[in-house]
Amino acid sequence: NQKTVVITGTSSGVGLYAAKALAQRGWFVVMACRDIPKTEAAAQEVGIPKDSYTIMPIDLADLASVRKFVQNFRASGRSLEALVGNAAIYMPLLKEPLRSPEGYELSMATNHLGHFLLCNMMLEDMKKSTYPDRRMIILGTVTHNPDELGGKIPPRPDLGNLEGFAKGFKAPVTMADGKKFESVKAYKDSKVCNVLTMRELHRRYHESTGITFTSLYPGCVADTPLFRNHYPLFQKLFPLFQKNITGGYVSQELAGERVAAVVADPEYKQSGAYWSWGNRQKKGGKSFVQTVSPQARDDEKAVLVWDLSKKLVGLA
Ligand code: NDP
Repeated sequence: NQKTVVITGTSSGVGLYAAKALAQRGWFVVMACRDIPKTEAAAQEVGIPKDSYTIMPIDLADLASVRKFVQNFRASGRSLEALVGNAAIYMPLLKEPLRSPEGYELSMATNHLGHFLLCNMMLEDMKKSTYPDRRMIILGTVTHNPDELGGKIPPRPDLGNLEGFAKGFKAPVTMADGKKFESVKAYKDSKVCNVLTMRELHRRYHESTGITFTSLYPGCVADTPLFRNHYPLFQKLFPLFQKNITGGYVSQELAGERVAAVVADPEYKQSGAYWSWGNRQKKGGKSFVQTVSPQARDDEKAVLVWDLSKKLVGLA
């Protein structure tokens, strides 16, 4: 029986190469993307065999679109063995917030709220699969964690007491903590929410469902289009800096392999874990379970994010 994985954001970067690596391992990949022609061209370009994937539309920033995606997936009749929340936007130069159709700040809406709704809904699909080793994964990042070198550069993520979420997260509110808009911080905040969501899913559902919930930092994949909204000079120098100075650089292929391993390989079947790799720049770099940031391991904050996010996406 062929196993099915849904991966969000596979038109480029880590998601695209994760799709390729999983197809190579015999999985059927549902590529959940907002730009179908771009995704089709990308899949062909990296050589994913035609019969090992399908593309289904989703706009993670639009909650109605997330619901529609789940409907479409269900209509396909496939069972669901794994889900990877990978899509994200990063808009470091933005001075004023952009808004989702619901009126939420766009990076939090895309990176966190869309995935929060998707994970909650697809949990039901995953529960129905009889495959014993089902997994749900959300991508994290080193910049969520100020305890690490890569996370020390300001602005630091800070969810505060979720004052912005509690107020309904619509204009004039722009940030989870209700403070002034800072686009880089909005991205980092959304990634802290991703890690908290994964840990809360684990706490609530691992025992009763047997599903493995994990997150990971695949390394600094400095040449993905994630940085397309940065200064051109930054886009040129950042990969060189990561390759030659920090040694943190990881190719898109290797990052995709790492995601695929966390989806499929027996050694990554530890629910609640956040995976990272030592010797990040080297192929043989060993993986280990890394401690997440103090905020991302704050159990009370996890419950608060969970309850408020449920309201924001219309599940409560
Ligand atoms: P890319 O920009 O290459 O990929 C992002 C993907 O998300 C694209 O397919 C993009 O689609 C999709 N996407 C963006 N917005 C939406 C939306 N509203 N609805 C549906 N899809 C959307 O970035 P990366 O591959 O670098 O990033 C992938 C993940 O890895 C992210 O979660 C990121 O936080 C994480 N990560 C990346 C690191 C890096 O160094 N690059 C380091 C650590 C973590 P479209 O083509 O339509 O824009």
